[in-house]
Amino acid sequence: MAKEGQPVIFLDHASTTPVDAMIREEIARLMALPMNASSDHVPGQQARALLEESRAETAAILAVSPGEIVFLSSATEANNLALRGIAEVWRRQGRRLRVLTSDLEHSCIRETTADLASRGLADVFAMPVTPGGRAQLPETSDGVDLLCLMAAQNETGVLQDLAGATRLRRAGGGLWLCDVTQFFGAAPVRIADLGADLVSMSSHKVYGPPGVGLLAGPGVKRLLPMITGGPQEGDLRAGTQPVALIRGFAMALRQAEDRREARNQHLRNLESVFLRRLADLGVAHEVNGGAADARLPGFLSLRIPGLDGADAVVALDGRGFAVSSGAACATGVMEASPALRAMFPGDEARAGGAVRITPGAATTVADMLALADSLAELGRRVSTK
Ligand code: PLP
Repeated sequence: MAKEGQPVIFLDHASTTPVDAMIREEIARLMALPMNASSDHVPGQQARALLEESRAETAAILAVSPGEIVFLSSATEANNLALRGIAEVWRRQGRRLRVLTSDLEHSCIRETTADLASRGLADVFAMPVTPGGRAQLPETSDGVDLLCLMAAQNETGVLQDLAGATRLRRAGGGLWLCDVTQFFGAAPVRIADLGADLVSMSSHKVYGPPGVGLLAGPGVKRLLPMITGGPQEGDLRAGTQPVALIRGFAMALRQAEDRREARNQHLRNLESVFLRRLADLGVAHEVNGGAADARLPGFLSLRIPGLDGADAVVALDGRGFAVSSGAACATGVMEASPALRAMFPGDEARAGGAVRITPGAATTVADMLALADSLAELGRRVSTK
């Protein structure tokens, strides 16, 4: 592990992004104020005004009405509210929710749908996954109550078939929950055009503060709450709102809109410089998900034959690089994630070889070149073993 104080080159922006300096300052200023948006005195009214201003700005960015936005703690909570909130409505009608999803979805969707199924509240059907990392939508979604199709996959950055899902939804299929957590930084999300019923996202992936996320779209009107005990967020999420964090989230969304093109260009350039260096150094490698235009800009899930993903993460950490692998510890053994296993069924070495490299706004060309050099060194070691 890199020692405390040792400079770290952070290339794991898909896991979280540092909070933008201007946003940090604004949050710190607001944190000094007493802000309970449910209070009737003047400070409470001021907090409420700031909260509703943030909601209106967010609604304009996402092309929904302010009443169709629920602020909560994270994308994980947003997806839980969506899935459990709909399943509860169905349960009260004596029905099991029929969910169409895939192994590509984030664990907060996979595990929540599995939990609903285990309690007899849902029947879960899985879409096939292509080796390129896309979920294959069916021709029709007749008989499906809820489609879970994310916008961009969080381990490979692969863009999913949003146009196909929009078509299915317009053709009268069931509700559509679209997790745009990784996607929003790279592309705009206009819910009215997308046609999704529910969209989930998180502030800490777009240079906003951690601890705040949202669920938005016309589908929020069809949910039952999972957290009760107060009237906040249209009775859908009880608990005093963290107004300063929500303000920071709205600012981050605005910045993402304004800086998107420049950020994307920067990330594309870093990706091509890095891949060129690897090629110049003669490092055999594959990018999971394939060509750059099939993925989020700069989002690389890399495989160097012979190199295990989890081992590479540890070795790179020791050299001062923070990256991640697609593996997680399952019952004491490192296992490739369901998403990578679905892309490469039966090929554990391929699935377990992924190293996820996600540069960000402050990453430099020198950072990427240094990483390529370190990977070349690791690659040489495994090839001479
Ligand atoms: N959905 C996707 C696609 C993600 O990438 C993540 C986080 O990595 C989440 C949901 C969960 O986000 P949060 O950390 O806000 O719970």
